[in-house]
Amino acid sequence: MSSLSSVDPQIAELVKAEERRQADTVKLIASENYVSKAVLEATGTVLTNKYSEGYPGKRYYEGQQVIDQIETIAIDRAKSLFGVNHANVQPYSGSPANLAVYMAFLSPGDTVMGMGLPFGGHLTHGWSVSATGKWFNPVRYGVRKDTGRVDMDEVREIALRERPKLIFCGGTAIPRTIDFPAFAEIAREVGAVLAADIAHIAGLVAGGAHPSPVGHADVISTTTHKTLRGPRGAMLMATSDEHATALNKAVFPGLQGGPHNHTTAAIAVALKEAATEEFKAYAHQVVANARALAEELAARGFDLVSGGTDNHLILMDLTPKGIGGKPAAQALDRAGLETNYNTVPFDTRKPFDPSGIRIGTAGVTSRGMGEGEMRQIGAWIDQVVTALAKGEDEAEHAITRVLGEVRELTSRFPAPGL
Ligand SMILES: *Cc1c(COP(=O)(O)O)cnc(C)c1O
Repeated sequence: MSSLSSVDPQIAELVKAEERRQADTVKLIASENYVSKAVLEATGTVLTNKYSEGYPGKRYYEGQQVIDQIETIAIDRAKSLFGVNHANVQPYSGSPANLAVYMAFLSPGDTVMGMGLPFGGHLTHGWSVSATGKWFNPVRYGVRKDTGRVDMDEVREIALRERPKLIFCGGTAIPRTIDFPAFAEIAREVGAVLAADIAHIAGLVAGGAHPSPVGHADVISTTTHKTLRGPRGAMLMATSDEHATALNKAVFPGLQGGPHNHTTAAIAVALKEAATEEFKAYAHQVVANARALAEELAARGFDLVSGGTDNHLILMDLTPKGIGGKPAAQALDRAGLETNYNTVPFDTRKPFDPSGIRIGTAGVTSRGMGEGEMRQIGAWIDQVVTALAKGEDEAEHAITRVLGEVRELTSRFPAPGL
């Protein structure tokens, strides 16, 4: 970073500070990961200088001799990794990718069905503050109070009553396997397009650690930067030519201008990495780690939504511990354990001060940590949260002690790319 340091030392110092913070912290934020050095290098290239509105072979600017090859490689790798006929690697991120799904299949005012945000859905699945909830007619499903899981009979009932044109499955805080075949059957029954939003679990799907929506969903939407471990970006995939054409038109010229070619190159690199045996092992270890951490937390009296996890993610209600999600997440962060506060299903507290925290194992697994480290992390989480419930002095003491132990752990497990 020698040029950055001389041109803008202020920003250079802040980048270094963030790098140190990432190295020293146990990243348990379920939507984050560490990209490889190769992915980082691809994002920092001259490809950022090039405009290439359109698609390979059909561009509106000259000079696409190289960019066309890069985008074609990224598309081919996505098709081969996920087993689909069509892939669009241009969406700027997950939210614009989902907006493109609406653009492709709905008109303003049409009905969309998605999981409610407080139950683990995403804003872009028709939540009220999102454009998707304001410009379309959203109807929602949730989870059962007794099981913490989606009730497919309820989904079917709502779909038959409301007749949505588009159904989203997937979300941001779902600790359990998504039943793609059951969603597909319901979508078929009501004549809806089924979009599987696998933003969180794409890496698990690619690595064979979660069932694939291919063959069930009409459209697959994903970010590339969560468990898939690529740059910030997104992809839309489809099996039928008809759906693929609609999606391509929606992304460009429907919603976007020129694709971010440096990101496209980095997506291609990440997809190459994700096709390796090492990545398969990684995806399975992410799930094994989440299971080990969930077991440790449950044994320590934490109330896990749905009782556990099938994937990379744990959602827990801290009410029995006598503390809100936000103060807990803040105390954990000071102890070097980075999580996020989160609503839990049927939360009685406000979204900005909810009852739960969300934890994911994609980042720690990228650092090479295993089940033993997960049990240690579970113990630390318990120590900080329990101390916090007792009072400030107790909390200070626990935070200082855990932070020291966290530093020792992170120094033994260097993060990729840093
Ligand atoms: C993260 C996420 C998105 C949005 O991705 P951004 O890149 O943050 O816009 C969409 N859907 C789901 C399910 C997600 O988890």
